Amino acid sequence: MVKIHCATCASLGAAGVTTDVREVLPKAAETLEIFAPGRGHGDNEQIRRCPICGTLYRYRYHYEYDVTGSWDEYYLWRLPDAAREVIDPLLDPSQPDAQRDRAFVAALRHDHDEIRAAAALALWAAVDQDLTLDAALIPACETLADRKHLIGHFCYFALLWYLRRSPEAARQVTGTMDICAIDERDTHFSWILRKEARKWLT
Ligand SMILES: [Zn+2]
Repeated sequence: MVKIHCATCASLGAAGVTTDVREVLPKAAETLEIFAPGRGHGDNEQIRRCPICGTLYRYRYHYEYDVTGSWDEYYLWRLPDAAREVIDPLLDPSQPDAQRDRAFVAALRHDHDEIRAAAALALWAAVDQDLTLDAALIPACETLADRKHLIGHFCYFALLWYLRRSPEAARQVTGTMDICAIDERDTHFSWILRKEARKWLT
């Protein structure tokens, strides 16, 4: 049974938006608030939130090109209701940094894949807003090895932009990667992060 949260969400639901990832983007999606990372990114991956009832959605844009032509794909899907409590604090820059940083720990370790993916995307957006990380670094480094729903990919970008802030931040990221021994489980993102960190440390 699907709970109908408000008129906007009801019209999105009627237009085919569900918790399944589907190629659908109804007009009502334009009224949703948008949370997206700004750097290293073309607005392809977003969290959206209903301004009336607070229901959370994920949005994805994909551009496909081949010799026969090119086309755009737009996806919109609803996050489970349980996402609200976990994800909302991550999207609120008015909170003290330390509190917001700590809120990422449980969110990045959540057992629901979609919630973990939204948390990783929110982390990337929060780093863009200059959030200072401390507690979130360990789960973010561990999550580099998470292959589900681009979770590792979003954490990679969050950590990449974070370590580019200063040599101190670069040391903090590589030190945390050592603690997690992440290189044994993820040979792709952690390799690039270490290479990038070396540029800042030499
Ligand atoms: Zn709503």
